[in-house]
This record gives sequence, C-alpha cells and structure tokens, in this order.
Amino acid sequence: MTQRFLYHPGDPVDWPRVRQALAGLQLDDSDAACERAAADYHWYSPILAEQLQGRRPDLVVRPRDEAEVLQLAAVCAHHRVPLTVRGGGTGNYGQCVPLHGGIVMDATALNRVQRIEPGWATVETGVLLHALNQAARRSGQQLRMWPSTERIATVGGFIAGGHSGIGSIRHGILADPGNVRRLRIVTLQDPPQQIDLLDEHIQKAHHAYGSNGIITEVEIALTGLVEWQHTITLFDRYDAVLRFGLEVGRRGIDVFQLSAVERRITPYYAGLRNRLEDADAMFAQVAPDALPAYEALALQRGGRLVVRGSEAELLAQGLPPVSECAYNHTTLEALKSDRGVTYLQVAYPGPLDADLVAAQMRRFGDELYFHHEFSRAGGELVAFALPLVHYFDAAQLRELIASFEADGCRIFDPHTFVLEDGGMKQVDEAQLAFKQRADPHGLMNPGKVRAWDERVLGRAA
Ligand SMILES: Cc1cc2nc3c(=O)[nH]c(=O)nc-3n(C[C@H](O)[C@H](O)[C@H](O)COP(=O)(O)OP(=O)(O)OC[C@H]3O[C@@H](n4cnc5c(N)ncnc54)[C@H](O)[C@@H]3O)c2cc1C
Repeated sequence: MTQRFLYHPGDPVDWPRVRQALAGLQLDDSDAACERAAADYHWYSPILAEQLQGRRPDLVVRPRDEAEVLQLAAVCAHHRVPLTVRGGGTGNYGQCVPLHGGIVMDATALNRVQRIEPGWATVETGVLLHALNQAARRSGQQLRMWPSTERIATVGGFIAGGHSGIGSIRHGILADPGNVRRLRIVTLQDPPQQIDLLDEHIQKAHHAYGSNGIITEVEIALTGLVEWQHTITLFDRYDAVLRFGLEVGRRGIDVFQLSAVERRITPYYAGLRNRLEDADAMFAQVAPDALPAYEALALQRGGRLVVRGSEAELLAQGLPPVSECAYNHTTLEALKSDRGVTYLQVAYPGPLDADLVAAQMRRFGDELYFHHEFSRAGGELVAFALPLVHYFDAAQLRELIASFEADGCRIFDPHTFVLEDGGMKQVDEAQLAFKQRADPHGLMNPGKVRAWDERVLGRAA
C-alpha cells in the first residue's frame, strides 16, 4: 500500500499489518468497546450530538506503560493510522471522539502515582484526579484545582482538554504559571521521541485536544490540605448573590469555590429538593477559619447560610457536595429531567458588572437561566457564566452569542469540536509549530485543528 507523508482523512489503513505490529498490546475491536470509546459528554449540545453521530474508532488500544505507548505511537506513525487519545471521556466538545476512525488510545491503565513531594505530584497521565487527591491527602496535601468531574476525569485529560475548575478562585486557571511544571510527551514521529515540556512550554500541549503528542506523565502542583466547608447561602435577589461574590473575592476571604446559581436552576438539583427555598444561592467551599468572616459578610448582605459541613458530612446527610452543583454539573442536573436545555459559556470583562447581568436577565427572559462561576486568571478576579439555554435551533444560539458579544462578553462556544472555534478564535502558533514536530504526519485527533486542515492539508475544516 503506498503511503503519503501526510495523512489525509479517508486514507486507507492496512489493518492486518497494523494488528501484527501491535502484538502484545491490549486490543479490543468489539462493538461495545468501540462504542464506549466514542462516547463523551458532547451530547449536552444538540448540534454536536447530530454532527458526531456514528463516529467511532476501528480499534481500542489500552497501553499499560510508556513502553507500550511508544510501541503504539511507532505503529501509528509508520502505518499512518489516525490516533485519538482518551482519558475519562468527560469532555463536552467531542474532543476525544474520533472523526475519522482509526485507533483510540485508552489512557486509563497508565494510572500510577509515581511521587508525592512537598508542593508537587508526579503521575502517569491516566490517574483519576480523585485518586491523586486521595494520595496527596496522605501527605497533608491536595490538588490546587480540579474539574467538577474530579471522580471520573484523568489528570492528562484535564490538561489536554480542560481549562479551570473548583479551586481556580484561589489558584487561578491551569494555564497560570506554577500550576503544571512538566509534561512528558511521546511524539508520533517515525520513530517516536520522548520530549519533556517544562514550565511555560507546557502551553504547547495544554488545551490542544491531544492533537500534538501523547501526554504520558505530568508534574502538577499541590497545596496544603484544607477541610473545606461546603456551604449554601440564600439571597432574595440574584444580583445580591453576585455582589456578595465580588466582595468575597475583593476581601480575599479564603474560599476554594464560589458558584452563583439563580432560583430557576436550583430546582433541577434533585439531591437538594426541599432544602432550598425559592431563593437565589451561592454554593461555596470556605476555609474553616474564614467561615466567621464569610458568614458575617453574607448576613450583612441579606444572605442566610442554610447548609454547612465537610464533604463527608454533606454526603452522610444525603446531600451532594457543592462542587457537584457547579461548573458543568449544573447543565448535567438540568439535562437529567429536561432534555430541552443546552448551555453557553460566557466570559465577562472584569470586574463583573452585576447590573449588566441584571439587564441580560431582563433581556433574555425565560430563554436563559443564569449561573456564574467566580475564578482568578492571571491574578485577577474574573467571572464567567454557564447559562442554561432553552434550545430551539442553531440560529437561536448564534443570535444569543451575538447579543452577549455586543455586551463585551467573550463566548467559549461549546457547540463546536474545532479547537480554534471554541475559545481561542485564533490560531495558537506555538501549538501548531509543536504539532509540526510532534505529529508531522497529522495523525493525532484529525479534523479538530482548523489551522492544520487549512494551512497544511489545504482543505476546509
Ligand atoms: C459534568 C461536567 C463538568 C465539567 N466541569 C469542568 C470544569 O469544572 N472544568 C473544566 O475545565 N472542564 C470541565 N468539564 C470538562 C471535562 O470534564 C474536563 O475537561 C476533564 O478534565 C476532561 O478529562 P478527561 O480525562 O475526561 O478527558 P477526555 O474527555 O478523555 O479528553 C479530553 C481531551 O484531552 C485529550 N487527552 C486525554 N488524555 C490525553 C493524553 N494522555 N495525551 C494527550 N491528549 C489527551 C483527548 O484526546 C481529548 O481531546 C466538565 C465536564 C462535565 C461533563
């Protein structure tokens, strides 16, 4: 079979030879395995659900150590087999759904915690964030941040597909300096190379959707363990919740999570039924010694703290941890009982203007229900919304996006699988240059990087 240097979607694969070269690795091409390996949480978007229907790999490979990853990478590079890496499969934009078949590498057997030291953990990519937190806990430490999918997402998947999460109000976003200090990458050169990306160079592979190398090992920052107090505080108005959040942030009260959720959303939280009045709520994790200051400020602002306790205490009462009432768990809770909703991701110019949000709530009426996350990025207090949208069609989403943009907000579009069209809206030249080196044949997650398709393959994404 003649092979071109560059892989073009649709190029044939010599599967008998590929299978022979993969001898000794864990392979599965059963319908069930291929179906599972094609699923993530893109179904939150009716647009992606339609576009990605029926996309699945031909084969699933589950390497058990880096030597097996090297073998897999060598085979893919040599035989020009498209390769999509998969961690926990919790991404929302179809990041780990293979558009053109090929192999899905399941990273979950690469699950060793190699070293915990003061301030840092070294782990294999497929370690679950929850497992890492448990291991760090034994040394009196914890991760600085995690997505609300902490129990089922992997470290490598968070770095390759995620942005920020619970803890970001205290420690910034993943891309902020000091949160990740090393990524070990296996390239898809023929033969493959191992490259260590250090410090600011990790940006070359962070949030690149696994399009420019396989992450096999990560050094990620830890912080001192705190027994965070999960709290719910109710207010009579949503703008009062937002102003309270801004003040908590301004005063530097020690919180790990600060999530504002308006009263039309909280009834979706099945685990909290009968616990919340018809009120707007702040879901927060507060340091025990900051709780008096937090509660005093809430009282002063007309709030009432109705739930308080450690995660274990909430679980013992049959209540969900507040981390599972935030970020994209909000959308998940709504979708459990109402398949007519979807969502948007809206970043506000800082500092958040609560009057602007009030005006947007009046403008959008029952079409949008609001939920805001407070965070820090580059040291600044920022806020972004993940509003629930009562969905009709794509044209409606475009109009909503234009309306937010006219207010000076930035949209991170969760209804596209194309990397640049989600948040960046521009080509990340450093990531693209790294792809030329680490994936010279264009085999990794093909179809997800617009700049590669347009500039290198000369075709529309
Ligand atoms: C309910 C819910 C809540 C969420 N909350 C948050 C949140 O708070 N913050 C946030 O940032 N995201 C959030 N997400 C999105 C998602 O959970 C996170 O990005 C998560 O960290 C992804 O991890 P994963 O292991 O599931 O990755 P996957 O979904 O398996 O993969 C994500 C991307 O990373 C790539 N990848 C995975 N492993 C590797 C590797 N070893 N090498 C190279 N590329 C790799 C994949 O190819 C894919 O492109 C949420 C999603 C859901 C469904």
